[in-house]
Amino acid sequence: MNLKISAGLALLLPLVLAVGCGGAPPPTSEAPPPDPAAEAQRLAQEILILDTHIDLPYRLHEHPADVTVETADGHFDLVRARRGGLDAAFMSIYVPASLQEEGGARAMADGLIDLVEGIAAQAPESFAIARSPAEVRSLFEQRVFALPLGIENGAAIEDDISALAHFHGRGVRYVTLTHSEPNLICDSSYAEERPWGGLSPFGREVVVEMNRLGIMIDVSHLTDDAARQALELSRAPVIASHSCARHFTPGFERNIPDELVSLVAAGGGVVQIAFAPGFLSEAAQRQSSELWAAMRAFTNETGASWGSPEFRARVEEFYAANPKAETDVADVADHIEHVIRLVGIDHVGLGSDFDGIGDTPAGLESVAAYPKLLEELLRRGYTEQDLRKICGENLLRVWSEVERVAAELQAG
Ligand SMILES: [Zn+2]
Repeated sequence: MNLKISAGLALLLPLVLAVGCGGAPPPTSEAPPPDPAAEAQRLAQEILILDTHIDLPYRLHEHPADVTVETADGHFDLVRARRGGLDAAFMSIYVPASLQEEGGARAMADGLIDLVEGIAAQAPESFAIARSPAEVRSLFEQRVFALPLGIENGAAIEDDISALAHFHGRGVRYVTLTHSEPNLICDSSYAEERPWGGLSPFGREVVVEMNRLGIMIDVSHLTDDAARQALELSRAPVIASHSCARHFTPGFERNIPDELVSLVAAGGGVVQIAFAPGFLSEAAQRQSSELWAAMRAFTNETGASWGSPEFRARVEEFYAANPKAETDVADVADHIEHVIRLVGIDHVGLGSDFDGIGDTPAGLESVAAYPKLLEELLRRGYTEQDLRKICGENLLRVWSEVERVAAELQAG
């Protein structure tokens, strides 16, 4: 639903939505500011904006670049981050599922962490790794961009539970339990093969150890069964670091269903909404599945590599024959608003997946664009306090609680 509302209507909106959604909490109660675009620009610079999923490390692993200056490629660099008011971003330490078979998963994760350490070491006045919510806040005060770390794919620990302590020691503060294939920990929403029926026995040990160490458990990419089991087992709040609401894409298991949104919220956790066009609407989802199937067939037939000039030409041919299913900033706001109507303002945030997605919604082309999203939310009547929660405070609350639970567990 796209809500384009006048200031007067905004006052009635909570009532309309509450009735429309069977008594769900009203999302908002304020008239928009007179100039939402200017107010969004002001707020983006003033408040702490934290994104839980940016794939910069893998992008730089493939195509090295200096991100202290504006880069022609990719979605993230310091210049555009400053323009967009972004202050902190979890660097995705992405371990491709192929390494589960080939070996080298742990080495890949260590290599990407080395790469992030290199970014901070080369420009210490601009970047620093952040290991706690307190460090994120202190870097924000100093105007240093905070780089917390999250591993995307628990395969990084291979079959060694003690690797979790190793990665915690290096600064990793969330682990997405799997990626596109089942691993030793759990099943993946993208794979038909479901060997564990959720979490494996080793995966249950992993959840317990992550609680003890103070590493957030990330259920993005998991099957519903794996996510539910992790939520039931975890003693600390759980996050979905980059997922959208399945409400808008029925049958697409990569997005989180209402039932699990409610469970995440009941445990005190947070759902961080992704900007991937294929996650946002049914039409875009269908098209993105068709495109990937076509490209898999193309690479199998021709041996062309992903991202090669032939590959990109084939993608263009696809869009010439299939007009693009457009998505925009209002779709992202719809997903945020859906979670708010289900479980309130305290359980939603931003996990864009910038640099991990080939395409972006119109209006959200890079990290310079967060003010566009804030503007859309202001137009819908959300307050400064609401925006602070969505943009980072909710996630920082969860992270602090995960630290608190770990300290308690370690104290015995
Ligand atoms: Zn992902």
